[in-house]
Amino acid sequence: MAIYKLASRKLAEFKAVDWQQSLREAIRTPAELLSILELDAAAVDGFEPTAKEFPLLVPRSFVARMRKGDPRDPLLLQVLPKQREQSKVAGFTRDPLQETCLAQHGVLKKYSGRALIVTTGACPIHCRYCFRRHFPYSDQIASRDHWGGVLKMLRDAKDVTEVILSGGDPLSLVDRRLTELVDEIEKLGSVKTLRLHTRFPIVLPERVGRKLLSILSRTRLSTVLVVHCNHANEIDDSVRIALKDLKSTGTQLLNQSVLLNGINDDVGRLERLSRVLFDCGVLPYYLHLLDPVAGAAHFEVEEPYARELVTQLQHRLPGYLVPRLVREEPGGLSKTIIA
Ligand code: SF4
Repeated sequence: MAIYKLASRKLAEFKAVDWQQSLREAIRTPAELLSILELDAAAVDGFEPTAKEFPLLVPRSFVARMRKGDPRDPLLLQVLPKQREQSKVAGFTRDPLQETCLAQHGVLKKYSGRALIVTTGACPIHCRYCFRRHFPYSDQIASRDHWGGVLKMLRDAKDVTEVILSGGDPLSLVDRRLTELVDEIEKLGSVKTLRLHTRFPIVLPERVGRKLLSILSRTRLSTVLVVHCNHANEIDDSVRIALKDLKSTGTQLLNQSVLLNGINDDVGRLERLSRVLFDCGVLPYYLHLLDPVAGAAHFEVEEPYARELVTQLQHRLPGYLVPRLVREEPGGLSKTIIA
């Protein structure tokens, strides 16, 4: 069991920032976002003032990392709704990975020995390219019956050695609910590893508080936390501190990015991202080709160009800093490694 040290932050700082309050104060309209960034709607290509099905959501601290007056800012482009999301593009569907038919009680058991729990539909940010942007969370969330159904499934499965908490974002659960769930997973004798897929430490680093660090530090399970960062500008000092604190619990930190047109489809940007992540104790793990979800076609990077980018990265970086280029296949038993 790892003993974590809060060398980087004082207790008072943890108490000072309430992540739920930060979420309540997040920006929820494109107009307010543009106003903070001192941008005129006319300057933004394809500006969409409303996006009802998948509304804008972005915390203020993430907005503070965007460049004012720049409609091409790589963080802004990840969250700002555009009119072209309404275009129908062949091959781009509402459930590109056909997950809804795989899910039972909010559990996806796609991979041998591993089970993924859809813990919540809530996220700290709405990423326009998200492959679950149309996911019917209300039908699939495992917490509806206080984890009873999901835990029964895992007990019956017997071969599950790793449980993956996903969503939405599993750190949207309050610490009490998270503790409850981790306690139950610990009771499953076959399970050795707990993995969380989360964008919180990047988007809203104040979520990484004492209680969360304690949960990770005290569990008997090996812990892996896969963050999601697409561009080095997402990492400021508060994110660095949160990642270092997570690392100090003995948790393995990995990153997955999505290769996004106009945001990180450039070898220099990808190189910088890998180096900055490594400085924070995070290994670049996967670089995903975009999942063809309806509304996100304008983010797509063609596979041949993606391969070329990775080849160029291999010339610039040691192997452990080159993420694996992968594609998810509907119903596939694992990711397809492209490069
Ligand atoms: S945080 Fe993750 S699950 Fe939530 S919208 Fe972004 S990519 Fe999708």
